[in-house]
Amino acid sequence: MICELCGKETPHARSVSIEGSVLSVCGECAKFGSEVAGPIGVRPPGNPVVAQRLERRQQRMSERDIYTAPASDELAEDFGERIRRAREARGWKQAELGAKVNERESVIAKLESQSMVPTDAMIPKLEKTLGIKLREKVESVAVKKQTGRAPMTLGDLIRMDQE
Ligand SMILES: [Zn+2]
Repeated sequence: MICELCGKETPHARSVSIEGSVLSVCGECAKFGSEVAGPIGVRPPGNPVVAQRLERRQQRMSERDIYTAPASDELAEDFGERIRRAREARGWKQAELGAKVNERESVIAKLESQSMVPTDAMIPKLEKTLGIKLREKVESVAVKKQTGRAPMTLGDLIRMDQE
């Protein structure tokens, strides 16, 4: 490269802005102007690599919000029915099931009639003892991805899961 200011051969020309015009100059002459980064006349805002990364991260975050919102385990709408069916299939009385999961018979009766919701500690015990699932993975994903259709309800999701 030839310095556009002093005409000297320079291995590392720098783009500097001198009195409004951008010139490729040698290191010495660069002092006379203010250095311009990137292609002449176009100064990218900030560090392009950092900007790209930020942009990608923002994209990932918004994708996650839309498509992969964390799935949450929700208690099945028909948990009482599930408990009762599984218990009866095993020929157990409510008291027998209660004994297996360290709960009173009255608690089992309340669970089956859904007048009581199992605690987080009870759910895995009941699931294991009865070999059933009392929770549904409810992903907001599925709800939001539906377009041009009526919004899905929790019931729809559970029905889908059972099919
Ligand atoms: Zn020069």
